[in-house]
Amino acid sequence: MSSVLIVGGGHGGVDVAFGLRERGYTGPITVLDKSGFVPYERPPMSKSWINGAGGPAELMLRGHDAFSGANIELMLNCEVLGIDRDKKVLETSHGSVEYSTLVLALGSSPRQLRFSGASLAGMHHLHTLEQATVLRNDLTSATSVGVIGAGFIGLEIASSVAKRGIPVTVVETARRPMPRTASEFTSAYMRARHEDAGTNFRFNASVQEIVGQSGRVSRVMLSDGTHVKADLVVMGVGALANGGWVTDFGLDFDNGIVVDSTLRTKDPDIFAIGDCARFLDDEGGATRLESIGNAADHARRVAATIAGSPVPVPDVPWFWTLQAGVRLQMAGRVDRVEEWLLTGSVESNSFSVLGWRNSKLVYGESINSPSDHVTIRKLLAENTAPTLSELRPIAEMGLKAAIKFLVSFRSAPKDEVSRPQMAR
Ligand SMILES: Cc1cc2nc3c(=O)[nH]c(=O)nc-3n(C[C@H](O)[C@H](O)[C@H](O)COP(=O)(O)OP(=O)(O)OC[C@H]3O[C@@H](n4cnc5c(N)ncnc54)[C@H](O)[C@@H]3O)c2cc1C
Repeated sequence: MSSVLIVGGGHGGVDVAFGLRERGYTGPITVLDKSGFVPYERPPMSKSWINGAGGPAELMLRGHDAFSGANIELMLNCEVLGIDRDKKVLETSHGSVEYSTLVLALGSSPRQLRFSGASLAGMHHLHTLEQATVLRNDLTSATSVGVIGAGFIGLEIASSVAKRGIPVTVVETARRPMPRTASEFTSAYMRARHEDAGTNFRFNASVQEIVGQSGRVSRVMLSDGTHVKADLVVMGVGALANGGWVTDFGLDFDNGIVVDSTLRTKDPDIFAIGDCARFLDDEGGATRLESIGNAADHARRVAATIAGSPVPVPDVPWFWTLQAGVRLQMAGRVDRVEEWLLTGSVESNSFSVLGWRNSKLVYGESINSPSDHVTIRKLLAENTAPTLSELRPIAEMGLKAAIKFLVSFRSAPKDEVSRPQMAR
């Protein structure tokens, strides 16, 4: 009987396992992970969990009972030692495991900064439950916090720290927060919200070294000669794909395990999904994404492929983050945007910023507007967005009202509907 072996029991790996059962796959399924915890969720670790009192159980994706109930074997504290692709055997710290299909869902690891003082007490990364637990305990006695990197995780941490009333400063080499992942407009809006909440920023600043006192971090020294006082520092400067070791077994790795648009490696019986996979996107470009949405989408498609059921079309990429009391949701590809358009009103603290390429909608970010986010995902998935020139004159109405207006304008006899005059 065919068997599926999944390496990595995070969001993607667990979704493949349960997705297979939901699609009627009856063969043996094994999920192995080097971690000793049952599979857990990462997003809350930088948000509510870090300020709360709940334990690891609060983060559980699926408990032991769910695995045994679905007849899925879970092997924890299990390291991969090698793959014999000819014999279809995975060598692990728990012995040899045979497979018919192997799914690599290895996730990513925080990028390490190499400067002096980076290993002092009080220096933290936030990626695993172990790291989150150590950070949460250390925060209870922190008097000032430095965050290196104004990306999603750095900003979420800063927001959580500011909420506790601890002085916090974010150091960023670029001139704005989320420089690669949000529009200038949203960056400026979010910066203002963070500053209102008490977070300080040092932009255009690079870290020179970390200085300690009695073995613990005390200052983050910047290359302009100034410093940020901090007895706890969190480094949030991005992540690198796991799985570079697959090249020892003849698979390709280039900023991620190389797979095609069906998520297969060059070995047709081995897939890679989620953060660790560098896949071919809808335009044939090599892409790697780090998000729950991406891991879930890959898992759905691979589970369907293995189970022999209809494979869904790839989902539109999406992401969310909670910072400074703001829910920010993104959909589409920010790296494809050439022109921006604001819809709705900033004063209401609920609006969207849309990104266009050749007058075609390619991306949208919504601030405190989940319904706009849903609309943007639908417009992108169905390729039904109005053009930029259609939407621009009525953008102030807000996205949903503007779309509704355009639909009624298109379907009504021309003399019954007149375009409203917008003051811009
Ligand atoms: C603090 C934090 C907050 C986040 N917040 C958000 C958010 O708000 N929204 C969002 O969309 N995304 C968020 N993300 C990103 C999201 O968690 C990841 O994109 C998602 O978990 C990727 O799923 P995955 O299955 O690819 O990898 P993971 O969920 O990381 O799972 C990979 C698993 O593989 C295991 N593993 C790795 N190598 C081996 C090996 N050699 N042998 C055995 N096991 C191995 C690891 O132990 C791990 O359990 C956040 C991430 C972090 C760290």
